[in-house]
Amino acid sequence: MSIKENLNHIKSELPPHVTLVAVSKTKPVSDLMEAYHAGQRVFGENKIQEMVEKYEQMPKDIEWHMIGHVQSNKVKYMAPFVRLIHGVDNIKLLKEINKEALKNNRIIDCLLQIKIAEEDTKFGMTITEAQELIKSKAFSELKNIRIVGLMGMATFTEKLDQIKKEFTLLKTTFDSFKTIESFNFKPETISMGMSGDYQLAIECGSTMIRVGSSIFGERNYN
Ligand SMILES: *Cc1c(COP(=O)(O)O)cnc(C)c1O
Repeated sequence: MSIKENLNHIKSELPPHVTLVAVSKTKPVSDLMEAYHAGQRVFGENKIQEMVEKYEQMPKDIEWHMIGHVQSNKVKYMAPFVRLIHGVDNIKLLKEINKEALKNNRIIDCLLQIKIAEEDTKFGMTITEAQELIKSKAFSELKNIRIVGLMGMATFTEKLDQIKKEFTLLKTTFDSFKTIESFNFKPETISMGMSGDYQLAIECGSTMIRVGSSIFGERNYN
């Protein structure tokens, strides 16, 4: 099937409250433009350099989401235009994003990445760490960032019951965090679900899915 057909197929199944982020990492601009012409306006990349190059070449009504691990020293390159940063997992990075957002006279929206997978991953915070961060004085001083929700990645497994348990944990955490609201913490978005598990993620409360290979085909990392 073509990129357009894949997109239309996925979109026809989505409830209206769910945003589709088309994950275009490793794919050429021509593929992204095919999705753009089919009406897609939200794209996700996991490398800052690659996202900047695509941003420069593509129409300016696109929302660019950074879905990968962010290195502090590269935040400045995306600060002028990035719409949402999904994988924020420490205060040091948030401070850097805040600094670069201020330079650009912007408020940058971010999601806190929560460790929900059973497998050992380097990225993401525990629920307690996230709670402490949101309530900290350091966080309350950041005026140019806003945490608008949570992001999580389930364990890479075929076991649906385990994935479901992990997605449900993120949803429960999100609901419990809703009571914390402050000027820079406004939880609205739960980013969970990829090509293999987005239907389940939506059943578990996802409001934003990050889908790559089901739209653009398998990736080739050479
Ligand atoms: C690559 C990636 C995706 C998309 O994965 P697919 O299985 O191709 O849909 C989603 N989220 C993150 C964080 C990714 O790095």
